[in-house]
Amino acid sequence: MPLSDFPRHPLTFGPSPVHPLPRLSAHLGGAAIWAKREDCNAGLAYGGNKTRKLEYIVPDVLAQGADTLVSIGGYQSNHTRQVAAVAASLGLKAVLVQEKWVDWPDALNDRVGNILLSRIMGAEVRLDPAGFGIGFKESWTRAIEDVEARGGRPYPIPAGASDHRLGGLGFAHWAYEVAQQERELGVFFDTVVVCAVTGSTQAGMIAGFAALEEAGGRPRRVVGIDASAMLDETRDQVARIARNTAELIGVGRPLRDDEITVLPGWAGDEYGIPVESTLDAIRLTGQLEGVILDPVYEGKSMAGLIDLVTGGDIAKDATVLYAHLGGQPALNAYSGLFTHTHR
Ligand code: PLP
Repeated sequence: MPLSDFPRHPLTFGPSPVHPLPRLSAHLGGAAIWAKREDCNAGLAYGGNKTRKLEYIVPDVLAQGADTLVSIGGYQSNHTRQVAAVAASLGLKAVLVQEKWVDWPDALNDRVGNILLSRIMGAEVRLDPAGFGIGFKESWTRAIEDVEARGGRPYPIPAGASDHRLGGLGFAHWAYEVAQQERELGVFFDTVVVCAVTGSTQAGMIAGFAALEEAGGRPRRVVGIDASAMLDETRDQVARIARNTAELIGVGRPLRDDEITVLPGWAGDEYGIPVESTLDAIRLTGQLEGVILDPVYEGKSMAGLIDLVTGGDIAKDATVLYAHLGGQPALNAYSGLFTHTHR
C-alpha cells in the first residue's frame, strides 16, 4: 500500500532543515553540496535518524499495548538514546542492552554522551561485554524475557530499528520530504550521500526514491558509505531492507542491483574507530561550516563525500545532498582525540 496509508506517529519537528554548505563546496572545488539535518530534527534528546524510523514503529507499539521498549546497541549507541527519549515521551519504559561494540580507551566511554542521556531519561541500561554485530543477540532475548517475567509487555526494537518490517518506512518518508523541499527550493539533488551501518536509513531512501521515480520523478544516485567495516553484511542488509520496503510501499518492480550502492574505503578497520580521514573530515566541516560530525558515522560518510567529489567520481556539475544523520553526543566519549585546536 502507498506510504501515506501507513500510520505515522509524529516525533520530529516536521521536515528537517535543508541548506547549502557553500564554503565546503568552494573548498572542494566541485559539486554543490547541501545538507539535510537529522541531527536537529526533533526535540527528543537531540533527535537523529532513529527518531524518524520510530515514527512508523510507534503506532505498532501502541496498537500492541506494549509498556516497555527493549533495544540494543553499543555503549555509545545513538539509537538506544533515541529509543529512551521516545519511551519517556510516550510514558513507556525502556530496557537497553549496551554492548561493548567498540574497544575504545576513553575511560568515560560507558558514562558520557549517549549512555548518560539514556540514564537521565530513566532507561534501564544493561552493560554487556559482547562485541560489534548487527544480528540478533542472546542478551537482547534475555532482556525481553526479563520484562515478561516481571509482568511487563515488551516491544522489541532491533539494533538501529533496522531489521524490523517497518524499519525502512521512516527514510522512505524522508525521500518524499526531499522531493517536496526540492520543489520549494527550486533545486534537484542528483546525488545523495548517506552513512550505512544497520542499513534501514539508506534502504528506506532507495525504496522511497524508487516509488517517486515510478510516479514520474527523475532518477538519482543514493551513495551509501559503509561505516561498519563489515561491507558484505551491510550491503546485504541494505539490499534486503530496500527490497522489502519497496514491496511494502507498492513499488511495482524489483529493485535493480545498481540501485544499491554501499562503498567501502572510509570505515577503517573497525566499527567505531575513527581513522585519519574521519578526523580530517570532522575538522574540515567544523572549521568551514560550523557543522559538527561524529567519529563513528558522519565523519566517515563525510570523508567519503570529500574523496568522491575531489576525485571526480561525483561530477563537478552535480548537486549533492549530504544526509546528516545525527550522532554528535558520542563525541564526548572521544574527547581525547581533540585536546588541541588543529587547523
Ligand atoms: N549515522 C548515525 C549518527 C547513526 O547513529 C547511525 C546508526 O547506526 C547511522 C548513521 C547509520 O544508519 P543505519 O544504521 O540506518 O545504517
